[in-house]
Order: sequence, then structure tokens, then C-alpha cells
Amino acid sequence: MPDYGHELMLGTFITPTASSAKDVVSLAMLTEEAGLDIATIQDHPYNPDFLDTYTLLSWVAARTSRLKVAANVTNLPLRPPQVLARAAATLDILSEGRFEMGLGAGAFADAAHGMTGRRPGTAQSIDALGEAIDILRGVWDTGTRGAFRHDGEHYQVPGMKRGPQPAHDISIWLGAYKPRMLALTGAKADGWLPTLEYIQSPNVAESHKWIDDAATAAGRDPRDIRRLLNIFRASFLPTGRAFLQGPPDQWVNDLLPLILEHGFSTILLGQDDPHLIRTFGEEVGPALREAVAAERNIRTSGSSGSRERSAIALSKRHDRVDYNALPPQLRPKAIEPGDALYDSVRHTYIRTGSPALVIRAEDESDVVAALAYARTQTVPLSVRSGGHGISGRSTNDGGIVLDLSQMDGVEVLDRATRRIRLQPGARWGDVARTLAAQGLAMSSGDYGDVGVGGLATAGGLGYLARRYGLTIDHVVAVDMVVADGRLLRVDNDHHPDLFWAVRGAGGNFGVVTAFELIAEEVGEVGYASLTVDATDTASLIETWGRLVEAAPRELTSFLSLFPGRRRGAPMAQITLVYADDDVEAAQQAFNEFLDVGPVLDGRAELVPYHAIVAPPHNRHHGQGLEEEHSGLLEHITPGAARVIHKMIHSGDVLVMQFRSAGGAVNEVPPEAMAYSHRTQNFSVLAASAASQRVRLASAWSELYPFVDGMYLSFETSTNPERLLDAFPEPVLSRLRALKATWDPDGIFNRNFPITTLAAELPDLEATTRAV
Ligand SMILES: Cc1cc2nc3c(=O)[nH]c(=O)nc-3n(C[C@H](O)[C@H](O)[C@H](O)COP(=O)(O)OP(=O)(O)OC[C@H]3O[C@@H](n4cnc5c(N)ncnc54)[C@H](O)[C@@H]3O)c2cc1C
Repeated sequence: MPDYGHELMLGTFITPTASSAKDVVSLAMLTEEAGLDIATIQDHPYNPDFLDTYTLLSWVAARTSRLKVAANVTNLPLRPPQVLARAAATLDILSEGRFEMGLGAGAFADAAHGMTGRRPGTAQSIDALGEAIDILRGVWDTGTRGAFRHDGEHYQVPGMKRGPQPAHDISIWLGAYKPRMLALTGAKADGWLPTLEYIQSPNVAESHKWIDDAATAAGRDPRDIRRLLNIFRASFLPTGRAFLQGPPDQWVNDLLPLILEHGFSTILLGQDDPHLIRTFGEEVGPALREAVAAERNIRTSGSSGSRERSAIALSKRHDRVDYNALPPQLRPKAIEPGDALYDSVRHTYIRTGSPALVIRAEDESDVVAALAYARTQTVPLSVRSGGHGISGRSTNDGGIVLDLSQMDGVEVLDRATRRIRLQPGARWGDVARTLAAQGLAMSSGDYGDVGVGGLATAGGLGYLARRYGLTIDHVVAVDMVVADGRLLRVDNDHHPDLFWAVRGAGGNFGVVTAFELIAEEVGEVGYASLTVDATDTASLIETWGRLVEAAPRELTSFLSLFPGRRRGAPMAQITLVYADDDVEAAQQAFNEFLDVGPVLDGRAELVPYHAIVAPPHNRHHGQGLEEEHSGLLEHITPGAARVIHKMIHSGDVLVMQFRSAGGAVNEVPPEAMAYSHRTQNFSVLAASAASQRVRLASAWSELYPFVDGMYLSFETSTNPERLLDAFPEPVLSRLRALKATWDPDGIFNRNFPITTLAAELPDLEATTRAV
């Protein structure tokens, strides 16, 4: 995603509360005193509890000397543009060029109607806004001779004198969230001014694209449009809790990606808190400006082949990596430990890491170059797409990370055949949303932030599994860079052995740069969630297993078990997804589960599939549970249920999760691809914190005799014997032979490496299976 390169502007977004008018002005003055650049004020002229924004802005401008001021955003329906233009120019003249104009189509239609008697529809408001921009600019344009005239649908200006001339070119920033407003922003405005908490669909990247496309179509350079952002949810805390909920240095790390990767160059805080404004201005501001400048400097100089980093940044380099040998093509895309963006790329969901170098590839040629470079270095190489690998091997300490997150394209190649193309860095939630626009969906997982690359090379057991199978069952071709640096097309006709291997053991054979899959026609789905008292864990899990096996194949269910907290009862959370929009059939299927145990809470609804996998786009800092074991079960037998009951009641496990497989998953012949588990009906995982490793392992060893194979994506143990569980013979031997051909030097050795030698595996014949 882009950095449009505008100079950083930091400021406040103040509530103009009439009853504390002096405090409002003080907050604006503090904004300047703390070193911030701009104070902006909400504009709700129908609200009698608020001061009039334009009068207030004049007052603030008079009491400050450097501060820019703006309405955030001006309510156009209540401020006729002919008069607004004069007011704005006046304010700009008096403040000596410190006024900018936030502008909106108007919210709170009922309140505005009470003042004007008009209630325009959305489309009319947007058209009116487009006309108003022309009027504002026309009135300010004193260089053109003659009266200003406008003959529009919404505004009539038969002839008015232009002027006064503002002291500088006033920027017009639009508050926009939906495509038409975004397109208007791109076509006519100088800036985009949304509030972070209100941006939903389109998301940030898509909104930029709407703006950029419209700008290009209008013959403008998208970089001319500044991207500003209001943020409400923020507080300074001694230790970090979440985005902008932590100490000032964490704020710097949180804001950097917004600026350098998500295109925003103006951050406006909507908190009327003097301490917060002061800390933002005095502590975060300087560090953030320095970090942004340093990173931009590296990017600019990197593209010309040379690198300029501060002495401190250079001192953080690792001895075992030859940074100077990095090809020029990769320099602007490389992030080192001393770089401002390092904290945002070093960790994964499961693990914290401290790699020596993170290379963020933007296309296949970057992947080829990065791989060739990494082969010359004697440090580990991790491949990362979405960073949700449970084994945590997509980061490392002291090695190189090849990060594919920038390669996140999602494309419908052919709607008729439902063929889609996904780049590895796309997140499944974004894939779902993009496909939904064409009535399609791809069975993936349960969490929208998970990346395409890791999941689509291993399995993909998700909410649509029983109806549509695993994600890998839909893959028809991949493009991948193999160990010797070749970029190959791999499908049934090209390198079929590799195609077989990549669907289940992909991480061992190369870096997939694109997947082609056949999606399914899916619109709305039935979705239900039940909270159940799990005191009688054994009975609950056995009943659930029986119900799932008897359910129609449209139904897929996940069940999570949590031990009781503070002497409370263990709880189960059951998710039911009915992969069809037949409400009655879904209800019937869901009703069966009401007898699964004592249901404490429940709800059911019909929702678009993408809504249940919406991606939160969380930043990674090793937040996931670090210890996890995986197994597959054909049935949930009484014996297995008894062990599961014991595990949950022992407190040695923090969570167990069961997923239904079966259905379409089991219709694929086991020999079709490297993932060969096609008789099991359930996946089970047990997870705990790192400190509980030994106790979790001991609890798992009691369940192990009941399991039949495992899904590597839910496993953290690196014990090589687990490979046989993931790839039962003859699969493992075939994979070993292929590994000898495609990756003889074991370049791809981080994520459950398949070695070419079988000898190191312990003899597992003695392991007896229990029932
Ligand atoms: C919260 C959460 C929910 C999950 N839910 C599900 C689920 O519902 N269903 C399911 O099946 N799995 C699920 N998983 C497991 C998930 O499928 C795997 O962890 C998967 O590896 C994550 O993909 P990623 O790209 O985000 O991971 P990354 O951490 O980026 O990669 C993991 C590993 O995959 C390999 N890899 C990554 N990209 C490529 C590539 N382009 N080419 C070749 N190899 C590559 C590498 O070996 C890498 O170490 C979940 C994981 C988490 C943390």
C-alpha cells in the first residue's frame, strides 16, 4: 500500500461544547503549544449545545499564531457555498493563510430538515457537494475576470462578484466513506478526511483505490490528494494493551504503518483531554516525525542503489548478514532492526521474533531476487504471507524473513468458470469480501486475518468444509518460485508431482506467488452460535460429534471448550454454519443442536458469508497461544470423550477446539494430494501458554492414542515424528523423494522440514490406536 509522501501533519479534533467554551479554546491553544500543527472542530449547526464552528475557528485563529484551523467537516446543507466561500476566505486572510476546509455532504438529515425544510437524498447531497466545490473555487478565483456564474441542479448563481481572495490556496478535504463520495474526492478534492472507527466497507485500501482511480480518470495525480485520518479511540497507558492504548513509544510504532503503508499523512485525535494532547504533541510527535523522515529517506535513497541509515540504525545490524550484498531492487523493500517499521514486521501472530532482515516482496521478481540473496547468507530463511502460522516459523531470530504481505491481490479471472487468482499475502477475510461482490466464496477458515499463503499450501479447514471441502481441494494451479530460483507454473499438466506436493506440504517446496482456485457460488449462509455449560464435558462432546455426523452436509460446526474460570463451570462455544440461504432448512439443522447440553445463550441469523470472517487486521505481537497440538478423529468415541473431559477439568489446557471435517472433505481420494486425511470427521486441537508446555504435552499424550493423523497447521511441536502423523506413508516417502529433487539443499526448512533421509524418524509401529 502507498505512502503518498505528504508532509506529516498532526493535530486535534475538538468538540465545540458551548457550556465549556473556554476549555474548548484552551484545547486549541494547547494544540499549538504542544507542537502540533492543526486544530479541527466538528460542525453541527443544528446542535444548540455546540458553539458555531466558524465563529469559534476565527476566535481560535486569533488566539494562536502558527496553528492551522479547519472545520471537521463543514456541514454543507446548512452553509450555502456562496457565503461559505466568503467566510472561509475571510478566515484565511485574517489568520494569514492558516485555514483549510473540511467539507461534507451533511449528516443528521432530520435535524438539518428542521432548519431548512429540505431533506435531499444521498445521491443529491453528493451531487450538491460536487457543485459546491466548483462554487467555492470559483468565488476564490479572483484571477479570472468577470462575475462568477453557476447553473447547476442544486445551486444557482446567476452572477456574483468573486473574492475576497484567500491568503493561500485553501485545501478542500472531504469526509467520505462510500464509493461515490470517494470518487468525488479523487475527481475534485484536495484531501480525504474519514474517521478510522467509521471506515468499514470499502476498507482503507479499497477507498484509496476509489480515490486514485477517480483522480486518474480526471487527469489528476492521486498523490495530489492528501489522506487525513480522525482517530477517537486512543489513550496513554503505562503498558501496551491495543492499538493506541499504551505508552508514547508504542504510539509511534502504531502510527508508523498508518503513515508509511496505509497512506495517511495527517492524524487528528478526537479526545478532549489536555494530558493526551500534550503527550501526543510533545512525546509522540517528534519521535514520529523523525521515524517517518528516516524511513522515507531510506526508501528514496534505496531506490537509487545507495543506503543512508543513521549510525544507531547501522549499529543494530547483525554480523551474520551481509546487508551490502542486498540487490538494489530489494533495498527499498528491506527493513532492518534499526528501521522505524521494524516493530511492525518482526513478529507473527504466535511468536515474537527478531530477524536480521525482513524483505517485503512486491512481485515475483522480488521473490526470485530475495531467494537468491538469502541463499548466499548463512542464516535461517522464513517465508511469511499472513503471519498466522501456528508453528510460528514465519519469523525467526537473526535470520531473513521473506514477507509477501504486499502481494495481496484478489481477482476473479472468469466469473463463468468461477476461476479466481489470489496472491499469498491476501487475508481470507478480504478474499471473502471481494468475492462476495460477485456472489462467490472460497472455503477457507474461521478467521479473516489468516493469510492465503500459509493456509492454501497446507489445507484450509473452515466454515464451509463439509459442503465444499478444504481450500486446497479447490486449487487448480499455482505459480511458485522453487529453490533453484525458477518461477514455475505448476498444475496437473505442468510438474504434476510438485502440484501434488504443494497441496498439503507447500511450505517445503518453494514460495507460492499466486494461487488459482475454483470458487463456489455462495451468497448468504445460516450462522448460529451457542454458549453451552460444559460441566459434563464428555457427554457434550460426544453428543456434538454424533449430531455433526448426522447433520446434512450443508452444516459445518466448530466447538471450542474452555475450562471453568474462578471455580466456574467449563464452557463451550459452538458455531454452526449452514452453507445455504434456505432459512427453514438451516433452522431445522440448528435446532438439533439445542439438546447438545445446557444451552445458556444462543442466536441464529442469515448473514453474508464474508460477514463471519471479517478481518480485524490486527497488528502482530506474538499474541496467540504458543503451544498447540493437533489431531484428527474419525469419530468422537466414548473413550476419547472421557480423556477430553479430563483434559478440560484438569486445567492443563486453556482451550480445545473441535472442527467438523467429513462431507466434501472426505470425497477427495487420499492419493490426490499430499494432504491425505480423507476418512476423519473431526479435527481437534489443544492449546496452552508456553509456561504450560509440559503439562499440555502430558495431557495430550493421553488423547494421542485416539487420534488418527494430524493437520500440521494446528501443531507447534517440531518433533520429527509428527511428520508421520501429518503425512502417513506412502505420502511421507513420496514427499522425501520430491524434496530431494526440488529442494535438495533444504532451503525451505523452517516449517516442519521434510528431510530426504527417513532414518532419523523413530519407529512408531509400536504406537497402538485406542478406541
Ligand atoms: C487465529 C488463527 C485462526 C486459524 N484458523 C484456521 C482455520 O480456520 N482453518 C485452517 O485451516 N487453518 C487455520 N489457521 C491455521 C492457518 O491455516 C495456518 O497457520 C497458516 O499457515 C496461516 O497462513 P499465513 O499465511 O497467515 O501464515 P504465515 O505465518 O505467513 O505462514 C506460515 C507458514 O506457511 C508457509 N508459507 C506461507 N506463505 C507461503 C507461500 N506463499 N508459499 C509457500 N509457503 C508459504 C511457510 O512455511 C510459513 O512458515 C488459523 C491460524 C490462526 C493463528
